[in-house]
Amino acid sequence: MEIFTQIAPLKAYLKEFKNIGKVLGLVPTMGALHEGHSSLIQASKAHNDVTVSTIFINPTQFNNKNDLLKYPRSIEKDIELLTTAGCDVLFHPTTAEIYPEKSILKLDFGDLDKIMEGHFRPGHFSGVGLVVSKLFNIVTPDNAYFGQKDWQQFAVIQKLVSELNFNVALHSVETLREEDGLALSSRNRRLNISERKKANVFYKALTQAKEGFFNGETITGVREKVRNMVDGIDGVKLEYFEVADSKNLNLLDDVGASKDAIMCIAGYVGEVRLIDNMFVA
Ligand code: AMP
Repeated sequence: MEIFTQIAPLKAYLKEFKNIGKVLGLVPTMGALHEGHSSLIQASKAHNDVTVSTIFINPTQFNNKNDLLKYPRSIEKDIELLTTAGCDVLFHPTTAEIYPEKSILKLDFGDLDKIMEGHFRPGHFSGVGLVVSKLFNIVTPDNAYFGQKDWQQFAVIQKLVSELNFNVALHSVETLREEDGLALSSRNRRLNISERKKANVFYKALTQAKEGFFNGETITGVREKVRNMVDGIDGVKLEYFEVADSKNLNLLDDVGASKDAIMCIAGYVGEVRLIDNMFVA
């Protein structure tokens, strides 16, 4: 695997492939990689000649300084994982390489970033949109791969690509889970043993909610049950449980109104904030 920390040599290297018509796949990450990230690499490798992964902990998408400071970092292991997964190129820039001067550009995604993650993490999607735009311009991929776990992020990036005419096809990859249902996440590394045991409550709540909807329960009724289930566990706190139309993220009052309903959940286990989602049908 070729590793680059600077934009210019990376662009020069990729240009060689572009010139001979090779197809490029991009997998953007913030590092502390796990098998979920590997599955994105596999998805890219299946449909592209060259797979480029990026590891960059993007400061502009963190609204909480502590979260940024405590974000897990493990570059040596990440390089091993990417090499094993067969990734061709890693771009691992410094903050100064990506933001040589203080960024003043703000992106507003309208209703898309006023709910759920956008509501609880103000400015988060502006930062995501900014860094993803930069990575698209630097790498100019034909395809880019994102995890379903961050569904709202995917919706925001779809909007970004369509409004700004980025010439890239976006792909969402199914969430990879631990045996007990917990979605793999870099943040799981911050859980202690007892927290880890409790952390699959979000998956359990989503599964129970799905069953509730299948049995004709209302969103209000299901939300109440989810809250009781999650908040009933010591040290665990629900932040939100919402049901939205997965196509446009309009929040729903009635699941019957949409065939594409997705349940999104977020909360804290101790100090660690986790998110997850699941389609209703
Ligand atoms: P992150 O490094 O957490 O920013 O994630 C980088 C990419 O990996 C994002 O597109 C995530 O949605 C995706 N991802 C994170 N966790 C998983 C998972 N458990 N399964 C599949 N993709 C994931």
